[in-house]
Amino acid sequence: MTYIFSPGLKITVVGGGLGGLAAAALLAKDGHEVAVYEKNETIGGRASVFSRDGFLFDMGPTWYLMPDVFDNFFAHFGKKSSDFYRLFRLDPSFRIFYDDGDVVDIVADMEKNFMLFDKLERSGGEKLRKFLQKCEKLYESISKTLYKDLDSPLSLFQREILLQGLQFNIFESMESFIYKRFESDKARKILLYSIGFVGTPPAKAPAFYSILSYLKLAQGVYYPEGGIRRVVEAVYDLAKSHGVEFYLGYEINKIKVIDGRARRIISDGNSWETDAVVVNADYAYAETKLLEPRYWTYGPSYWEKRTYTPSALVAYIGVDHKLDSLITHNIFLERDWAEKFYQIFDPRYAKWPEYASYYVHVPSKINVSAAPHGCEALFILVPIGAGLDDSDEKRHKLFTKVVKDLENKTGESIENSIGVKYFFSIRDFTTRYNAYRGSALGLAHTLSQTAFWRPRHKSRKVKNLYYTGQYTHPGIGLPMVLISAEIVARKIERELR
Ligand SMILES: Cc1cc2nc3c(=O)[nH]c(=O)nc-3n(C[C@H](O)[C@H](O)[C@H](O)COP(=O)(O)OP(=O)(O)OC[C@H]3O[C@@H](n4cnc5c(N)ncnc54)[C@H](O)[C@@H]3O)c2cc1C
Repeated sequence: MTYIFSPGLKITVVGGGLGGLAAAALLAKDGHEVAVYEKNETIGGRASVFSRDGFLFDMGPTWYLMPDVFDNFFAHFGKKSSDFYRLFRLDPSFRIFYDDGDVVDIVADMEKNFMLFDKLERSGGEKLRKFLQKCEKLYESISKTLYKDLDSPLSLFQREILLQGLQFNIFESMESFIYKRFESDKARKILLYSIGFVGTPPAKAPAFYSILSYLKLAQGVYYPEGGIRRVVEAVYDLAKSHGVEFYLGYEINKIKVIDGRARRIISDGNSWETDAVVVNADYAYAETKLLEPRYWTYGPSYWEKRTYTPSALVAYIGVDHKLDSLITHNIFLERDWAEKFYQIFDPRYAKWPEYASYYVHVPSKINVSAAPHGCEALFILVPIGAGLDDSDEKRHKLFTKVVKDLENKTGESIENSIGVKYFFSIRDFTTRYNAYRGSALGLAHTLSQTAFWRPRHKSRKVKNLYYTGQYTHPGIGLPMVLISAEIVARKIERELR
């Protein structure tokens, strides 16, 4: 779109995570003069890259789901994801290792998954078919509301949202929804674990998050050739090609508000004028640290009362041989996982776990650039309660236990073959990303923190201050963050142009 009579605004984006990059690209395409300030020397935020001695890791996201959302985003620029990267559908999609030694694969062929469920419980295949049909309908209706700006209470009365409300009981938990439909522990775990990995215990997540299982099983799990970093690079390239300026290594310390409007941003004594600000940094941190108290929409007590996703111990490991028992995505589930959830999700009882469920991603199974020839790159993620004390000793102790467990369950020799070893945990989330309480993903997806109840995309106190990224609707994950950026860019066009 070209604006002849309405020149663009000077817009500052604080943070170069995917949410910031996407908002910057869209706003620049709309004709605004956009500058991104990122505290780290590299872009991508949680979706950054770590490399050492020939091993290359995506530091955060490793699952590429909802491919249509990525294409919808690129369509704003007249592009498709295939203009930037080749996308592979993984088959098997993922492998589950149970505590009793059983190993199952979820594959691309749904008939085989139905047969697997038949083995797990009586009529399991038929139950799975019905469950997925229900989730598909739910997804069709939810996918429309994902793109809606839900800042106004009136948005509650939009047609799709009311229709959705009629389809299921919004007060039912995902746990109860799945427990009612499946009886075996193993079938239930396959359908429940996803929500744990986006930081919300199944008993606290609303039933409609069951669509996560539908997305993984029925829509499939994808992988961009070269890794998730290709998504970040694609959005960065789009932003650059539309004239966005990048200031890397600039931490914004203050947003100066004059007459109810954000007028300047300040970083270590330097200051720049602006017509509007889009904050991509963690909302809880940014609001309380960058603004004077009178401009807070949500003060510290609001943030203290929220439910946060856990932090994590992420170990990036280079191993000097191939590990045949693992595939790209591997999930190791503890027998009594639900009893241990309080150690991870409840701040009152949170502690570094003795044993835990964990996730192992092996990018070198699909990406030759991830590890030197004949070697394997391993990304091991163990969820840990947010805000806990973090020490090298605790990291090593937990890591050693997890690697032993991994060796036992796979029969592979790992501990003595590790070359590269790099840990990222609570204190790194805090220092590298200014993450509130070191939480990996910010606000959990409980009912009271979903849709209209997530923090607004726009400040109530500062007229030209907006927020994008995983703290806002629709929430956590790369597809959600792209949508959040679209909502903000549309809102700015509508309100400030
Ligand atoms: C370990 C892990 C695994 C994950 N796995 C998946 C997955 O498999 N699939 C998936 O879809 N999603 C996954 N996610 C979630 C996904 O990565 C995030 O939801 C998404 O990347 C968040 O993007 P964002 O732009 O909202 O925030 P961020 O990426 O955190 O970006 C915010 C940026 O703001 C910067 N910043 C902070 N303070 C300032 C300041 N004062 N001045 C300037 N800059 C500042 C930060 O450095 C950061 O770069 C995972 C996340 C993690 C951590």
